[in-house]
Amino acid sequence: MKPHHTSWTDAAAQLDAEDALASYSELFAFPQRNGKPVAYFCGNSLGLQPLRTETLVSEELDDWRRYGVEGHFQSRRPWYSYHRWFAEPLAKLVGALPHEVVAMNTLTVNLHLMMTSFYRPTPKRHAILCAGGEFPSDRYAIESQIRLHGFDPATSMIEIAPREGASTLTTEDVLEAIRTRGHETALVLFSGVHFYTGQFFDIASITKAAHDAGAMAGFDLAHAVGNVQMHLHEWDADFAVWCSYKYLNAGPGAVAGLYVHERYADRAELPRLAGWWGNDEATRFSMAHSFVPSHGADGWQLSNAQVLPLAALMASLEIFDRAGMERISTKRDLLTGFLERLLLEVIGDRSWIRIITPSDPQQRGAQLSVHFDRNGREIFEQLIAHGVIVDWRTPSVIRMAPAPLYTSFADVVRLATTLETLLSAHE
Ligand SMILES: *Cc1c(COP(=O)(O)O)cnc(C)c1O
Repeated sequence: MKPHHTSWTDAAAQLDAEDALASYSELFAFPQRNGKPVAYFCGNSLGLQPLRTETLVSEELDDWRRYGVEGHFQSRRPWYSYHRWFAEPLAKLVGALPHEVVAMNTLTVNLHLMMTSFYRPTPKRHAILCAGGEFPSDRYAIESQIRLHGFDPATSMIEIAPREGASTLTTEDVLEAIRTRGHETALVLFSGVHFYTGQFFDIASITKAAHDAGAMAGFDLAHAVGNVQMHLHEWDADFAVWCSYKYLNAGPGAVAGLYVHERYADRAELPRLAGWWGNDEATRFSMAHSFVPSHGADGWQLSNAQVLPLAALMASLEIFDRAGMERISTKRDLLTGFLERLLLEVIGDRSWIRIITPSDPQQRGAQLSVHFDRNGREIFEQLIAHGVIVDWRTPSVIRMAPAPLYTSFADVVRLATTLETLLSAHE
């Protein structure tokens, strides 16, 4: 072992010993590689499985076996009102009021539902303004919504690019773009945390600038929820959507979430795509009337609750509720800072590798994106072969996300020493 490895290992041992969330890793199942648990840095892509997931899903399967249709009202967590269980814990995660959030569908579906209500272009104000290089699904959703309204994405999708030589946008870049293009913008649609760069945007400032310009402000929190603490209500965002299989650990294809600011809670006249579960409960089954939306985010529901996958989300939210975003955030900053420090030591004077995620902890969550001018994909594959699970995003980035609930400081040392060995083979 090299001398600096000893100092890394000692530092990690101390940090792990002081970590208030250290025991939480025992609540999760770790994949194995070469006969031992992996070091998992992919919680930003698919979170690990909580051990309680199987129990909670099995309980719903049991109740279905036992009660059949009567389970809607008779089971231990009646399916008829199952979605309600999620409002409190999700509201805490995103900083909203319980009636501003609902768990349903998948992220892209919810994004379309929200744009149906909040992207209402006119010939003068037709554009959607977003960050350049957005996630493909969001781009496809944006383009198709623009076309749906008879406009052309070439002129109605405004993408903001970083300044020459920069990898990420500054808040000022975004505000400046909103000031100059705001008059033609119907909707400012931003990520909370950008999937490629790991940058955490200033949701409050972006929202204020959008509103000052007369536009709506919506957010995709796929990489933000369960990662960074948000205050969507206070920040005044109009709507937000997220998925639950990344930091929220609710499993592949998990049930997603949605937030709508309370000022829209009773706006029955808003255009929306409706379904029976969004109808006011008192008249949901009545055949004699047309749609009357429920109060708040519930009014955007389409279908009855997806109980089996929601049981997996419940297993995850129990853990978040116990850990609390405050402790998660404290550990996240220490862990990500430790990873950054070790990466910078490993990278040294290799100018073909650099971290593109902002170094300011206020402008990032748990993810560091490391750009490689060359050999990136190969190094990524070698890390995986050594049981260090990271991911590769074209064109040139390895994303590394230490999830505070189950990644340890010792895992960070394992990543750094493995990467160092691999890099020395590439000189
Ligand atoms: C993960 C992710 C998605 C995924 O969309 P699904 O509808 O859940 O498949 C969409 N947008 C962003 C920004 C993401 O990070």
